[in-house]
Amino acid sequence: MSKKLIAGNWKMNGSLAANEALVQAMLAGIGQPPAEVALCAPAPYLAQLQALLQGSPIAWGSQDVSAHEQGAYTGEISVAMLKDFGCRYAIVGHSERRQYHGETDEIVAAKAQRALSSGITPIVCVGETLAEREANETESVVKRQLAAVIHTVGHCITEIVVAYEPVWAIGTGKTATPEMAQAVHAVLRAQLAAATTNPKRVHILYGGSMNAANAASLLAQPDIDGGLIGGASLKAADFLQIVAAAG
Ligand code: PEP
Repeated sequence: MSKKLIAGNWKMNGSLAANEALVQAMLAGIGQPPAEVALCAPAPYLAQLQALLQGSPIAWGSQDVSAHEQGAYTGEISVAMLKDFGCRYAIVGHSERRQYHGETDEIVAAKAQRALSSGITPIVCVGETLAEREANETESVVKRQLAAVIHTVGHCITEIVVAYEPVWAIGTGKTATPEMAQAVHAVLRAQLAAATTNPKRVHILYGGSMNAANAASLLAQPDIDGGLIGGASLKAADFLQIVAAAG
């Protein structure tokens, strides 16, 4: 396994002025980070991130990408457009998109494949709702979600990043314990091992209220290869502490 990956997901937050201040504070403090670092911004700010982050140790990406190549898909953003703005990553299948935009496992898999086809690394989010966890369905849900991607992208599965994000932990301040998260990550690693000879090549990130205080214990787990960070990626000091904890 290479370095861990710490990716921020700003969600629908930010402004030109706020982003500039946030990114400058991150750049001032980041030094030589012990992990790979990325920020995933709302699409209108990708040009700003490109200008601010070019040549820095922080990569950038989008929070979604269209499954289609181009054409009559009003409101969607193509992978070629993301390439134009230097994106390295695209989050796909975030639970907020599955929940509010009706994204199915098949749509998420098609988006992941479209990203891969242009050399953008999809960060594929999987995770169970509270009701699914309480019904003991966590394992079957995350395996179903990942299976759709494995089925669609085939041997390219080693090029994706997986983010395990229990839906009940996102933005709630409730974090899976390191042991709970590790158990699910081990399930996902075993599923990857059945699909590729190199399952350790795939970063499996944990996401769900990861913060400066809990990052080190989560990142110490053997199958937690980094974090997808929502709220704490909007505060430079917190985000930098998470990056430091990934060393
Ligand atoms: C996310 O949105 O991917 C996320 C993990 O959010 P938070 O860290 O705020 O729970």
